[in-house]
Amino acid sequence: MIAVLRLGHRVERDKRITTHVALVARAFGADKIYVDTKDDSLERSIEDVTNRFGGDFEIETGVNWRKLVKSWDGKIVHLTMYGLPLHEVIDDIRKEKNILVVVGSEKVPAEIYQIADYNVSISNQPHSEVSALAIFLDRCLRGKWRRMKFRGIIEIIPSERKKKVVDKLPTPEECIEILKSAGCSDNVIEHCKRVRDVALKIAECTGANKKIVEVGALLHDIGRSKTHSIRHGIEGARIARKLGLPDVIVRIIERHLGAGIPKEEAKKLGLPERDFIPQSLEEKVVAHADNLIEDDRIIRVEEEIERQMRKGNMDYARRLRELHDELSKLCGRDLNDILREGG
Ligand code: SAM
Repeated sequence: MIAVLRLGHRVERDKRITTHVALVARAFGADKIYVDTKDDSLERSIEDVTNRFGGDFEIETGVNWRKLVKSWDGKIVHLTMYGLPLHEVIDDIRKEKNILVVVGSEKVPAEIYQIADYNVSISNQPHSEVSALAIFLDRCLRGKWRRMKFRGIIEIIPSERKKKVVDKLPTPEECIEILKSAGCSDNVIEHCKRVRDVALKIAECTGANKKIVEVGALLHDIGRSKTHSIRHGIEGARIARKLGLPDVIVRIIERHLGAGIPKEEAKKLGLPERDFIPQSLEEKVVAHADNLIEDDRIIRVEEEIERQMRKGNMDYARRLRELHDELSKLCGRDLNDILREGG
């Protein structure tokens, strides 16, 4: 795991440069970026790049950096022109498993120099967090970017003189064929179509990418061709990966159960011990559209919440409420009303 911590982000002034720090982190092989200041629009634009160009890169903004560095299970590398030269320390740093790379903006808090396991310079001249991060990741991961495979909804074909782009997202008709070939029953396919209709309405008012939502919704239950158990999300993701479907669709399938399954619950349920929580807007839209469909009717979220509370699934009920409220807030109105109006 290699993550980047961007300190001192100012929402108005640093939008472009922090975006570039995040893009460099993603393209050069980091797994995640943490940004100290909350910035929804930054999160959304990086999510959008990852959705379109592929990979599993994550962004989290509004992070309490003191808490993060304190709890970081690994080494902390601070990039600064005042540090030790990269070539002197890179061999030691490469031996570490989990690395948090800290880059600043204007002036970083003095305590970072003490907290860091390594203060590293890439020349002792002032330049930029974007260049420093690119060079550091290239050297630390030994040019991993050359070997990385991104499965986006578009693929760039290297070309000497022109832009060559291939569309990798299946059409809705192809999705139905994919479901049939995987062995999904007619009932499952009908359900997927209903989820698609509701998901598209939610996408419309939340501003989610409709093409991605439509394909994700149509394919979300592909795993039911193998099992109707709680494992159908993981099974579906496995099938989708094997079919070479874009990463964004694989993630929608894998994280669509309920309002997501956190690591601790996943373990109890016999799933791999990691979070299955919908992260991107598109993942949330499909997961919630599925929550709001029962047989062939659209239900109010309260019906499902009450059912889960009666079963004693209080955490799940709380997550459903939060997901519903988050999407309703983006729409400016309660989704229950919007979907009922839509008929
Ligand atoms: N003047 C600021 C300070 O004293 O911390 C640095 C500002 S610089 C524009 C922003 C960030 O770029 C720094 O926090 C550091 O992470 C990175 N940076 C700039 N020059 C660097 C260098 N020569 N080596 C490593 N990192 C560098």
